[in-house]
Amino acid sequence: MPRVALRHFASPYAPPIAGCIYFATATASVLASRFEGGLAFIWVANAFVMAGLLTSPTAHWPRLIAACAVGSIAATAFFGMGPAAALPMAIINMGEALIVAVICRRVLSDHVVTGSFKPLVVFILALCGVADVVTGLGAALVASQVTPVGFGASWLQFYTGHVLGGLTCTPILVMVRQGECRRWWRETPRAAKVEAAILLLLFALTTVHIFYFARYPMLFAPMLPLVLIAFRVGHLGAAASIVILALIGGVATLSGIGPLMIIPASPGERMQAFQFYLALSFLLSMPVAAELNGRRRLFKMLQDSESRFRAMAEHSGDVILTIGVDGVIEYASPSAAEQIGCAPGLLVGQSVANLVDPQDRDAVIATHRRALVDLAEAHKVEFQPLAAAAGHDWCEMVTRAVVDECGRARGVVSAIRDMSRHKARQRALQQVADRDSLTGADSRRTFLEKLDAEIVRASTGVRSSLLFIDIDHFKSVNDTYGHGAGDRVLSAFVDRLRPGLRAADSIGRLGGEEFAILLVDSDIDRASMVCERLRQRVAAPVALDDAGQFVAVTFSAGLVELDSLMSRSALMEAADKALYRAKHSGRNCLRLAA
Ligand code: GH3
Ligand code: MG
Ligand code: MG
Repeated sequence: MPRVALRHFASPYAPPIAGCIYFATATASVLASRFEGGLAFIWVANAFVMAGLLTSPTAHWPRLIAACAVGSIAATAFFGMGPAAALPMAIINMGEALIVAVICRRVLSDHVVTGSFKPLVVFILALCGVADVVTGLGAALVASQVTPVGFGASWLQFYTGHVLGGLTCTPILVMVRQGECRRWWRETPRAAKVEAAILLLLFALTTVHIFYFARYPMLFAPMLPLVLIAFRVGHLGAAASIVILALIGGVATLSGIGPLMIIPASPGERMQAFQFYLALSFLLSMPVAAELNGRRRLFKMLQDSESRFRAMAEHSGDVILTIGVDGVIEYASPSAAEQIGCAPGLLVGQSVANLVDPQDRDAVIATHRRALVDLAEAHKVEFQPLAAAAGHDWCEMVTRAVVDECGRARGVVSAIRDMSRHKARQRALQQVADRDSLTGADSRRTFLEKLDAEIVRASTGVRSSLLFIDIDHFKSVNDTYGHGAGDRVLSAFVDRLRPGLRAADSIGRLGGEEFAILLVDSDIDRASMVCERLRQRVAAPVALDDAGQFVAVTFSAGLVELDSLMSRSALMEAADKALYRAKHSGRNCLRLAA
């Protein structure tokens, strides 16, 4: 529902003008309808204040209330119950409008009091259920003191008069102040305007006939065109009809003409019967019209949103799918052909799981179910499509629930995006992070992860070993042949180690010319044998260049068998200490951890 902008009473002339209007309408009400010297039968003036408060910022309320209170004092003092009642009645009148405005502003965040069902109901309850019940007590107290009418009758007069004034006039005044009449005139097609005019004229003629010419009391007759107007013209038409009915019926009844004359009672009681009739007409037509208006607005919003969705889906590079609660595709955007290799028409009616490689199906189905439960979030899943255009081997699907008017999920909207390039880049970056760029051995981080996993495996009884290796006197290789030659030696060193290991074993470069080897499923005896084999493999000299320069390196090693009771760092420290002992034992040898 659109939030309606509040109008301002900012002009310095606005409050005095409002006060004068209040005075004029209050005086007219008093003069036209004060029976038996009590309270007036229709209090239009308060409808004017209520509409003003409901459509203006709270900061402007005090000056509007003050101006109208002056108008109320003057009307009551000069034309109503007299000077003694003037101040209390002004407080009561302003209190009524204030109570309604405060309740509506508190309950309705968007300030709209007409045109939608809920705001209208809140307004009706605030006016009839709270404001007029409470202020009626005060008014009855005052009236019973200064007029011959008793407390109970005064309360009823005040209540009916003020409810009627508020119900019949406030909604239409609010609509006028919110510019709804102008908007209706601007936006309504000519044919609809003509239809509205004809229906209102028909309604007016029916009312005139019922109140001035009919021989039988046919008060029900205007109900048919009233309901028709509510359906065809909307809440503005319904409000206008109520005003027409109030004017024609009110004037007739006040003049002693019309169907209410069959009531064998005083003019005041007849007017009260007319008030009930008018209030009933209001309650019959306005809420229906407001509800219809709300639905019409919702339908328009849906149409707009649907066309926006279509425009985006038809031109999006992503595949847009709408999927039912059961996982069946209801709509697929044209890019499906390019991205997942399937014409959109063929996708409709299929289960979304059919698009997905079997190994990712469970994840996709789980995401679909999650989206149907966790409605506020978008849920992501990556999957490999079953049939895809060339090079499109990874997709990302972002899914969000579509809810019905009760807030229940009635399906999802999914956007599928090709992730192949992103995945390939991710794989390449991962490889770079996993490998040492010079030697191709595992990076320190990757090796330590594998070591951790193997320590866990050792707890199941598997016997594996960790070998630390450090090249002997490597500094002198650098010093003698240069750093580039040293690099070549390091690279050749790893190349020679690798064929001596099994596929499940790992070599990691821990730093500089220090390496670690994880020998899986190898106890310390087997690992020692492997180490000796490696020593032989690296013994042959490495060619440094094409000029025939060769260099041979040896290594020292420390060996420890994995023990799941020891931490990773304790195991590494044990292997390092063994390596240290190997260095001190003259190098080119293996030592076992103590
Ligand atoms: P030891 O037998 O006691 O291990 O003697 P060492 O000379 O091998 O030991 P030291 O730790 O003193 O020297 C290691 C050398 O390895 C020093 C360093 O310049 C060299 N080094 C470390 N990383 C690289 C590298 O990436 N490339 C080259 N070319 N040299 C490296
Ligand atoms: Mg070293
Ligand atoms: Mg060394």
